[in-house]
Amino acid sequence: MVTVTGPQHLADHYDVIIVGGGPAGLAAAVGARDQGAQRILIIDRDPAPGGILLQCIHSGFGLHAFGEDVTGPEYAHRALEQVIERDVDVLSGADVVDATSDLRIKLMSPSTGVTALDTSTLVLTPGARERTRGAIHIPGERPSGVMTAGLAQQLVNLRGLLPGRRAVILGSGDIGLIMARRLTLEGVEVAGVFELLPYPSGLGRNVVQCLEDFDIPLHLSTTVVDVHGRERLEGVSVAPVDGALRPVAERAWQVPCDTLLLSVGLIPDTELARRLRVHLDPVTGGPTVSSSMETSLPGVFAAGNGLHVNDLADWVSREARVAGAAAGDLAQGHRRPPDDVELTAGRNVAYVVPGTLASNRTQTVSFRVEQPIHGDTILRVGDIHRRKVRAVVPAEMITIKLGPRLLEGCAGDTLRIEALPAGEVSP
Ligand SMILES: Cc1cc2nc3c(=O)[nH]c(=O)nc-3n(C[C@H](O)[C@H](O)[C@H](O)COP(=O)(O)OP(=O)(O)OC[C@H]3O[C@@H](n4cnc5c(N)ncnc54)[C@H](O)[C@@H]3O)c2cc1C
Repeated sequence: MVTVTGPQHLADHYDVIIVGGGPAGLAAAVGARDQGAQRILIIDRDPAPGGILLQCIHSGFGLHAFGEDVTGPEYAHRALEQVIERDVDVLSGADVVDATSDLRIKLMSPSTGVTALDTSTLVLTPGARERTRGAIHIPGERPSGVMTAGLAQQLVNLRGLLPGRRAVILGSGDIGLIMARRLTLEGVEVAGVFELLPYPSGLGRNVVQCLEDFDIPLHLSTTVVDVHGRERLEGVSVAPVDGALRPVAERAWQVPCDTLLLSVGLIPDTELARRLRVHLDPVTGGPTVSSSMETSLPGVFAAGNGLHVNDLADWVSREARVAGAAAGDLAQGHRRPPDDVELTAGRNVAYVVPGTLASNRTQTVSFRVEQPIHGDTILRVGDIHRRKVRAVVPAEMITIKLGPRLLEGCAGDTLRIEALPAGEVSP
């Protein structure tokens, strides 16, 4: 039975505290329990665990984790069932507002008030935040009707509210694509999706299923350059951009709309990571981690979108189980030997997670390319592994499993990960 603990049930000390009860936090709890950790607590600020999945009522989740295509809430339900089976404590409606390097956290909730808890290990799974209008400096007036795509998703899917009648979507990230379809199904006219880059930022399957199937135009290399309307949004000006992504003002045109949705990227939530002063990766925005998903502060682990923005919840769950298992191990006094192989992003690779590997274990490495390659592509890990794939795009995270057989003899080495057109790589 899952216990949604009240103030009288909270222990003073836990083996593993997990901040964030989305798919990452739930999977981390499973990993920790299966590794033998006893006192485990998941804390989430929302009224119920499940994270962002609860508002993602579309299908497309779970093919890898459950071998079935399910909706976000169904995925969350299944993940929560695994936690329930393991009798892990969950405290919902509680915000973790501080954490210190001696692994003491401070939380706040209507039921507990302000409470401090000690833990042997801490797993950070707080998810990601959406970039806002301020983050991308869109000029113009400040009327109502301008919001992030995730907020619109929450309004429509959880509260039954329509954000407007005619929408423009800036950015072709997955949330924007999914909201283009969702709004259309709810009777909102979607005037178009405008993307700064010359290629879509979201998954190919979402471009087809959410835009092409609904005849919603996608304007690549185009951006919003002005916002019109005093009280309520009346329209936006959009303009094509040149090769340096600078808008060509003289070619701008106006699109009437009462709603502008921003789908211009997610950023790992590093509120607590910063308080803990763990080392952050300038590219992912999240903490740097070892193959155990341990941050630069011993005993603090990170996983999910709070570590790096994943494309699929399934990968989040897999990665978080590793973090939870390692946290569970450490809480019982088993510190794994330090990693002995460095990983680095090479040509056409934006980042690699984790940053180090243990040559004697099987681990999964995740990375994204910088530029799309529309044709045969070689993915290369140093000289130890190469794989040919048909194409690569930044929207799709790539994962490679590396085990002791491949890593034999690599201790002390730095392995460069690259993604190159097949024609540029010698056979
Ligand atoms: C619109 C949209 C569509 C998507 N579509 C798909 C899809 O089709 N298929 C797919 O596989 N994936 C999809 N994803 C991606 C998937 O939902 C995410 O990868 C996944 O939810 C990330 O999990 P997480 O646990 O890291 O973060 P989240 O799900 O964001 O959960 C983080 C949780 O931590 C809590 N939290 C944060 N800080 C604190 C704190 N200080 N104290 C207490 N609680 C805190 C938050 O309230 C939240 O509940 C989609 C995502 C979005 C936004």
